[in-house]
Amino acid sequence: MNEKIRKSDAEWRAQLSPEEYHVAREAGTERPFTGRYHDTKTRGTYKCVCCGQELFSSETKYESGSGWPSFWAPLDEGAVATNVDRSHGMVRTEALCSRCDAHLGHVFEDGPEPTGHRFCMNSASLKLEPET
Ligand code: FE
Repeated sequence: MNEKIRKSDAEWRAQLSPEEYHVAREAGTERPFTGRYHDTKTRGTYKCVCCGQELFSSETKYESGSGWPSFWAPLDEGAVATNVDRSHGMVRTEALCSRCDAHLGHVFEDGPEPTGHRFCMNSASLKLEPET
């Protein structure tokens, strides 16, 4: 198992852009169709912007029409943790990086086969490492 990564708010702020900090550390949401990866087709691995843990492969990225990068499965079952999110008058499943608890986005059950899951992510929480 990975060891948890914990840093102070000041350390995260120093490392991240203001938007990355707001989304990943304060559970913010970027505006749809504005993120750096919503339309990206580049092959590679999407890592956690905070701790670098590998989260998603471009192989499972698909066009959901939502305006946020969407995946039908994480790279590894253990990489993405979930949590019940009752904010904003809704009950949703929050997705977090299992290593550093970065907020990634939410998981919905209207995704494509074979899983039926839609991991609706914020670009700001991800860092794409293109395949070489
Ligand atoms: Fe992380």
